[in-house]
Amino acid sequence: MEKLFRTHTCGNLTQDDIAKEVVISGWVKDIRINKFGIFIDLRDMYGTTQVIIKPDNIHYQEVKNIKVESVLKVIGIVVLRKNKDAKNANDMIEIVATKIEILSRAINLPFTIKNDNTLASEELRLQYRYLDLRRPIMNDNIKFKHRVINCLRTFLNENNFLEIDTPCLTKSTPEGARDFLVPARIQKKYFYALPQSPQIYKQLLMISGIDKYYQIAKCFRDEDFRADRQPEFQQLDLELAFTTSKEIKQIVEKMIINLFKTLKIGDVPKVFPIITYHQAMDCYGSDKPDLRCTCKLINIDIKASEDTFVYKGFIVNDKINETTIKKLVEISNQHGGKTLIIYDLIKKKVIYNVSKTKVNELILIEKMSQIKYNNNNFLIFVYEQQMVANKVMGAIRNFYINDLSKQANHKDFMNNIEKFEFLWIVDWPMFEWEENKWQACHHPFTSPKNPEQILTINNKNLGILIADAYDLVLNGFEIAGGSIRINDYQLQEAIFKLLGLSTTEIDNKFDFFLSAFNYGVPPHGGIAFGLDRLLMILIKSQSIRDTIAFPKNNRGICLLTNSPSKISTEQLAILGLNLKK
Ligand code: ASP
Repeated sequence: MEKLFRTHTCGNLTQDDIAKEVVISGWVKDIRINKFGIFIDLRDMYGTTQVIIKPDNIHYQEVKNIKVESVLKVIGIVVLRKNKDAKNANDMIEIVATKIEILSRAINLPFTIKNDNTLASEELRLQYRYLDLRRPIMNDNIKFKHRVINCLRTFLNENNFLEIDTPCLTKSTPEGARDFLVPARIQKKYFYALPQSPQIYKQLLMISGIDKYYQIAKCFRDEDFRADRQPEFQQLDLELAFTTSKEIKQIVEKMIINLFKTLKIGDVPKVFPIITYHQAMDCYGSDKPDLRCTCKLINIDIKASEDTFVYKGFIVNDKINETTIKKLVEISNQHGGKTLIIYDLIKKKVIYNVSKTKVNELILIEKMSQIKYNNNNFLIFVYEQQMVANKVMGAIRNFYINDLSKQANHKDFMNNIEKFEFLWIVDWPMFEWEENKWQACHHPFTSPKNPEQILTINNKNLGILIADAYDLVLNGFEIAGGSIRINDYQLQEAIFKLLGLSTTEIDNKFDFFLSAFNYGVPPHGGIAFGLDRLLMILIKSQSIRDTIAFPKNNRGICLLTNSPSKISTEQLAILGLNLKK
């Protein structure tokens, strides 16, 4: 006879099934023994059902010593259960077992997994990820991710996007991170790069005549770790031909609104607000401001002695003590600030001045009397170069967002911590000066807003060029970024040159790409979402790892499989690699 593991799941039996003989299989979530028998909560992905093994059952002794998380098959009769706390229909029934089969025995667990909360360290959870994923909260995350991806796919399919996959063994795509490399056995000493994104391929698809492309793509970036980053992650990647940045923003907004409505995630506006990069830096000191906090930075209009220096501040309602001051100075130092000053708005005097910078307190009092500061009691400010001032004060604003949002009495400061605040940041600089050279802020395929400027621009002035690029920010995180692309050979070549690439380097790296520009390139543009990061915000987690089934830890190690791992000298030789040389 063919094996039958279940007639029902552990989640779908109801009072309608009373008196039926059923078969269910699952894990022992909990086991309790009293004079009426052994009570087992049997769990599978769909729910939990209570099973009773009465003392006269022939399997009683065998099951008595079973450990939690063992796997059982139960045959039994559904009976009514008196359960006042019943949350689900199947809490109203239980199964009186007639036959039990132990399908797999578990040993003692390294940590308890029956509840959402766990005392286990994240390292231990990652080492036993298959147990961690059985915890209800983690299981829900995995299911939610599936539903989100499914909903995005459905929307894009209905809007004429084609899902097309692109290679993982490829050539480097410049997205600003280091590449992960894979040695090619057949061509010794040659390497593939794992894609930092499918950027070049999706542009080549536009050149191939595809009108609307999408892909849930794996991307690989070897960069420093942060709570919202992983070395490999998933992007929802889009590209459209004959499009404009306005159209891309519209389609993205429709897609997000559809996602929020279909999955009942929360309220979402019909149109997302838009500000420029420079406005974002000026008002919030950040290129990804969290708009759940309505407070902006203030420019204190005191004449600075040196032209490029400005006074910039942030007003808070706080009990400023030694610990807060230490923290604020630390944040200021981290962002290159040297002049943190704290001014008591009630007592009208400077109470802390890290560098003894001269501030004319009389003028400050006069200026502050013109600013509405409601119940707030302190002005924290710096006197720095514009860029440093923005960065320091932006970081201090973020510190207060993280700190005060945890305190219930700061509703006026944080609009509503549960809200989802979307924001487009547009008009990014094309280039930024970093590590002594000009680098593309987005990537080198981004079109400038005024292409004609490129051919005449002085190399020293590249910082003034504006890109036709846009980022989508949600609650202080960049969740997507994209741009209109260059579709002109000369312009693309000129950008490579402005980035300091020699003709030989352009040939070696981008010859295949540039030559496609000779055969008709449609105007095109696109965007990519960091899916795991988006999920992290939607599930209100602090860690991107909670949204990935098998993530790496914060040192890039998979604790479950212990990768990366060493390879043998023989394997190295096969690849033509000799580490000694
Ligand atoms: N390839 C870009 C990125 O990964 C996204 C885009 O420009 O579409 O950030």
